[in-house]
Amino acid sequence: MGQDTLVKPGARISLNDYDPGFCSGYHKRDTAVVDRLAADLETMRELQERLYAEGKQALLIVLQGMDASGKDGTVRHVMSGLNPQSCYVVSFKVPTPEELSHDFLWRIHRRTPGKGEIAVFNRSHYEDVVAVRVRGLLSEKECRRRYDQINYFEQHLVANGTRVVKLFLHISADEQKQRLEARLRDPTKQWKFRPGDLDDRARWNDYMRAYEDAIAACSTDLAPWHIIPANRKWYRNLVVAQIVAATLHEMDPQWPKPRADLSSLVIS
Ligand code: ADP
Repeated sequence: MGQDTLVKPGARISLNDYDPGFCSGYHKRDTAVVDRLAADLETMRELQERLYAEGKQALLIVLQGMDASGKDGTVRHVMSGLNPQSCYVVSFKVPTPEELSHDFLWRIHRRTPGKGEIAVFNRSHYEDVVAVRVRGLLSEKECRRRYDQINYFEQHLVANGTRVVKLFLHISADEQKQRLEARLRDPTKQWKFRPGDLDDRARWNDYMRAYEDAIAACSTDLAPWHIIPANRKWYRNLVVAQIVAATLHEMDPQWPKPRADLSSLVIS
């Protein structure tokens, strides 16, 4: 789909090289876009059902991005097509005292999906190498140690049957300004506004550098990062749905064999 979203393992990246307004050959949310999204959502639904029936693999989708980058919207538009029976969303906030008394992966590991399930993390362990670092609470050395721990942790999940896909929703500073302004004006969106959002916005460049480092250090063959052009919400949804559908395809869940020979059974 045009601009490659996959971050090649070991590559250094500059987010400036990724256009947040990119939308391939599409220009607006027309019927071609709507139809394509619907087709990918249908594929996701079918494969989710098979994943659940098979009960051998799990899928973890990690969503990261600046405030107002569309993490909630992605959950609403792309994941809402899934059956809640075997899919859930976890939103990670500022850690509680109990969470802080453990290692940073403790609260993460206990929410990872069980076999047959799909979990979406709205923020994740990457806050511990991005937000924490930008706010000056983590040395560079300790941050590099955490990258290693994250890579080991994610490899451990993969080795135990969980696919890990990480999506960075990439918006421009201008787009964020417009969205935050809209939040301030719209009474139905004001609840989403935290004064702290402005502190984070003031550190935009530091956040971009921290994301570039973390994404480069932790995009691996088994747990890749994708950078999603997210200025246009409809294009973001299209790309995310396409990646999730393609990942489920690769996982190739199989319908389990019947538990017994059913051919001679008659339901009276
Ligand atoms: P959201 O913006 O996700 O809808 P909030 O407005 O409550 O929800 O913001 C969550 C805040 O929690 C963000 O500022 C984020 O950086 C912070 N946060 C999440 N995880 C951590 C963490 N491990 N350490 C520090 N801050 C964190």
